Amino acid sequence: MAYSVPDLPYAYDALEPHIDEATMRVHHDKHHQAYVDKANAALEGTEYDGKPIEEVIANLGSLPSDKQTAVRNNGGGHLNHSLFWESMKPGGGGEPTGPLAEAITAAFGSFDDFKAKVKETGVAQFGSGWAWLVHDGSGLAVVGTANQDNPIADGQTPLVGVDVWEHAYYLKYQNKRPDYIDAWFNTVNWDKVSERYSAVA
Ligand code: MN
Repeated sequence: MAYSVPDLPYAYDALEPHIDEATMRVHHDKHHQAYVDKANAALEGTEYDGKPIEEVIANLGSLPSDKQTAVRNNGGGHLNHSLFWESMKPGGGGEPTGPLAEAITAAFGSFDDFKAKVKETGVAQFGSGWAWLVHDGSGLAVVGTANQDNPIADGQTPLVGVDVWEHAYYLKYQNKRPDYIDAWFNTVNWDKVSERYSAVA
């Protein structure tokens, strides 16, 4: 079955004032839809048609060579955005608790140090991409990816990522990507991130 854009698990304006309604509408309804449409077109008629997107992105190298770029970019866009919507919630932010909080402190020194590392990674990403908290098989790490690349393609498990493409923030924040990343932290659904951590740790 072809991919489709999942409904937002909250209203378009639910992340105000951190992420504005106009950005959410165009980001979810237009950008994510375009990734889905192009990924479906690229995979149609191949043996990967209908496979879970995580599995497809983890095995990009086994796709027909003339499909790999389209699937990397658009299948990656579908995967990244599906994770992204679920990683935010109205009234989010704050700090995680439990095993994830302990693991963040162990890996980065403190939650504030972790936040600083995500922000630095997102700000330093030249052009479009993402900054991620991942589990790399042995522990937590912060990594950046270009364009719509997902850490799954590098054998890592993404726990939460912030979209630093200009389409994610330019309407409200213009060139101020650091301010957008600060604001995004006020939307993070740490329960969802903890759930992902528990599944791999
Ligand atoms: Mn995006």
